[in-house]
Amino acid sequence: MAKRVQEDKTNVQGRVPIVAILGHVDHGKTTILDYIRKTNVQGCEVGGITQKISVFTVSINNDPSKRITFIDTPGHEAFDLMRVRGGSIADIVLLIVAANDGVKPQTIESIDIIKKSSAKPIVVINKVDLPDIDIAKIKREIVKEGLLLEGMGGNVPVIEVSGKTGKGIPELLDLITLVADVEGLADREQLSNGVVAKAYVLESIKDKTRGNVSSLVVVNGNLCKGSWIGYSKEGKIIVERIKGVISEDGENICDLQCGCGGKVIGVSNLISVGSEVYILEENNPKLIEPLFKTDSKNDDTAIAEDDMFGSIFDSQSDNKNTQLNVVIKSSSQGSLEALKHSLEEIKKDEYSVNIVKDGVGDISNMDIDMAKLSKAIVLGFEVGMDKSTEEFARKNGVLVRTYQIIYKLLEEVEDALDMLSAPKQTEE
Ligand code: GDP
Repeated sequence: MAKRVQEDKTNVQGRVPIVAILGHVDHGKTTILDYIRKTNVQGCEVGGITQKISVFTVSINNDPSKRITFIDTPGHEAFDLMRVRGGSIADIVLLIVAANDGVKPQTIESIDIIKKSSAKPIVVINKVDLPDIDIAKIKREIVKEGLLLEGMGGNVPVIEVSGKTGKGIPELLDLITLVADVEGLADREQLSNGVVAKAYVLESIKDKTRGNVSSLVVVNGNLCKGSWIGYSKEGKIIVERIKGVISEDGENICDLQCGCGGKVIGVSNLISVGSEVYILEENNPKLIEPLFKTDSKNDDTAIAEDDMFGSIFDSQSDNKNTQLNVVIKSSSQGSLEALKHSLEEIKKDEYSVNIVKDGVGDISNMDIDMAKLSKAIVLGFEVGMDKSTEEFARKNGVLVRTYQIIYKLLEEVEDALDMLSAPKQTEE
């Protein structure tokens, strides 16, 4: 394995381009990523036979100089969070638009994020295998939202694909390498003395056997097993030894190159999604202190429990928002599906529930982060959260409610929507 890593270092690009993928739900992001992953050689020791993959690297035509890392951010909010915190994690961002559906709310949201990001966009029109589609119309809709496409007054490349049949996917991969070659990769700051790598956390979970596991993508330098990892936890810098770096299928990796992804295991905290971590030569928090200077700005935003509901609703009604944003966590996939279905059915006048994130398992700091960013409340069914997450939620002013009975949860959400729609009814 070491030999292969050594060979990889001859990569002409110096590092592997990192590609993120955005777009409206059901427009085919997962299908496209799965197709790419299955049909191309894995290039960074990060395999992928397990459920959900948050980062993987492929080698096109088995050529180590043509590698691409794809990151699957758990939602637009997480991508935006990384953008806000770290400039840009991705070099290139794909905007997926389904040919049969066109521009939808999350497409517009993605375009807004893309405009603010320094990542180079590529528009991918998917599902072109379907009949009766009008691609010219979709392109016009995209341009109308301010993303100027090639041949239509701008220089954003656009490509037509089918994630289902694979049509256009090899061309998409070539286009990604071309954009990376021609436009160059995002600038990465010089790492300071004693810091050997910088990575972003894409996912953090508590694993029964391995403890805290964080999926990372390395954006600068090289992450090596046995080094020290430094990160910020509630404004405090923590440095500890990495117990191991593993691939998606649990294999130990001895080296993780820039642009590649993997998982670190056995870190004593669940590191927040979207946050940066550093790999250090020695156990010395001073090495990274200056890098976290701006991180403490939210430390004093703790608000009283009672004010939380109020603040969520205030912010939502002020914005004339007719949706109650929620993050839901449930004990099993079955109960989660049932819950999602029931929540989507609840409507009060024009008010409804918008699920910004859902998942199985205990409530994590990542859920809190997401809720904060999207002004959402967190609802848990038959799940818990540890003390530190509770504290993290309190500090960030995020309301968390947990339930043991589904109808209780639904009842409270209905009440909440009643509250949201109440002022309007009074006016009438
Ligand atoms: P995501 O929510 O953006 O990740 O969308 P998914 O990848 O889950 O796809 C949503 C649905 O669209 C699934 O039923 C896919 O099988 C289907 N789909 C995705 N890509 C294509 C495509 O290129 N053609 C057709 N006909 N269906 C597709």
